[in-house]
Amino acid sequence: MDKRTFLKTSSALLAGSFLTPFKPMIPKNLQEIRTNWAGNLEYSASNYYQPRTLNELQELVSRLEKLRILGTRHCFNTVADSTENQISLDRMDHIMKLDEEAETVTISAGVTYGELGPYLDERGYALHNLASLPHISVVGACATATHGSGVENGNLATAVSGIEFIDADGELHHLTREEDGDKFNGAVVALGSLGVVTKLTLNVEPAYQMRQFVYLQLPVSELENNFEEIMSAGYSVSLFTDYQSDSVNQVWVKQKIEGDAAALPDPGQNFFGATLADRHVHPIIEISAENCTRQMGITGPWYNRLPHFRLEFTPSSGKELQAEYFVPQDHAVEAYQQISSMKSDLEPLLMISEIRTIAEDDLWMSTASGRPSVAFHFTCQQNWEELKKVLPVIEEKLRPFDVRPHWGKMFTMSPSRLESVFDHIDDFRNLLAEYDPTGKFQNAFVRQNIIGS
Ligand SMILES: Cc1cc2nc3c(=O)[nH]c(=O)nc-3n(C[C@H](O)[C@H](O)[C@H](O)COP(=O)(O)OP(=O)(O)OC[C@H]3O[C@@H](n4cnc5c(N)ncnc54)[C@H](O)[C@@H]3O)c2cc1C
Repeated sequence: MDKRTFLKTSSALLAGSFLTPFKPMIPKNLQEIRTNWAGNLEYSASNYYQPRTLNELQELVSRLEKLRILGTRHCFNTVADSTENQISLDRMDHIMKLDEEAETVTISAGVTYGELGPYLDERGYALHNLASLPHISVVGACATATHGSGVENGNLATAVSGIEFIDADGELHHLTREEDGDKFNGAVVALGSLGVVTKLTLNVEPAYQMRQFVYLQLPVSELENNFEEIMSAGYSVSLFTDYQSDSVNQVWVKQKIEGDAAALPDPGQNFFGATLADRHVHPIIEISAENCTRQMGITGPWYNRLPHFRLEFTPSSGKELQAEYFVPQDHAVEAYQQISSMKSDLEPLLMISEIRTIAEDDLWMSTASGRPSVAFHFTCQQNWEELKKVLPVIEEKLRPFDVRPHWGKMFTMSPSRLESVFDHIDDFRNLLAEYDPTGKFQNAFVRQNIIGS
């Protein structure tokens, strides 16, 4: 199958049936932004807009019948796609405004975590958590419930305390956590379907320093007996494994430094049977650690330690497909065992798997909504033909734990399964109908997976 057929087939399989779009001649300099970051998806939109002002944006939204907003293009599936119109807000002013009294920062839609981190840190402030990479837009990340790790840390959208968006008529709305209760909980993780988010207000906290250590070869028996203790050993803990042996390949422990760094205890050579790494490592051990944030206990600002990957380098491996599944934390070990039982199916495809924890939240469409969660992430070869055979098996094995998929990554779960594991999906549909009665912001992905048509 050639690349074009592959792209079309994989989009159709993910997003359900849709009309074959008219493919315009796209100027060369736009070619790159007409595919997603991983290059596995060529967007189908016939028209691509880059407004420069709020007025231009409102005019566009009122005029167009169907549209989707594009962030930094890091989703692997068709959630950001449109067969009609895509709008990028990247050319609009990137605004970051700290309110020290309220301990919040308000950002405009184009801003990435890579821009926001240093801005806040220079002013003495920080966010509570970050994803594995800083390259992504804050709004796009919150829209899909993007997360980092830490048993006490909610996903990135839990920092949102206010949201400004344009509805289907081009009208501007503001919702806040304080004043809008349930409506706010439905609006934050909205998969780009409620309207065009123009601003988010995020809670901030005093800036902090961190250090991280990596341990190699954690015996699985130790993980099975001490899962909670291991995942609570730092502010944020990630496990990396390929499930091929009776050890977990790597444990990344990120510690928040309170007080004097020099007075902190030594990490110790041994961590539940795993050995302290004596060099910087990449989660995929064969890849150079150059693109990873500094390890070996070297102190650094929060925005340079919470992500695994450095802003100035390509994150992860590049040409890949990602999938991720969330189960309640008290099923973590059983879920691990179920996935391990598939090690021969995973071996040809899996580059690396990451296991993280996420605190419970009350955002309707969040993957951690109503339950403290553990996430099993899979970075795989870019081979959808093979991966689409393996994902349903993982989904079936994790089904007893009411598994939920990551909204921005590959999955094959049926709409009826999604409906049964996202408790507020009906409330969410009603909220969409209130702000977007004609489905202007809905694409094939949303119609299939959320609306059910
Ligand atoms: C290398 C790599 C590492 C990753 N690591 C993690 C990780 O650690 N944790 C994790 O949870 N995920 C991770 N992801 C997934 C990714 O971060 C999320 O899927 C995120 O949504 C990407 O944001 P984006 O702006 O690039 O998204 P896009 O693909 O551009 O958009 C995502 C969604 O946001 C909507 N959207 C964007 N802007 C707006 C707006 N202004 N108004 C309304 N809707 C909008 C889009 O319509 C779409 O539905 C990773 C992805 C990659 C490629």
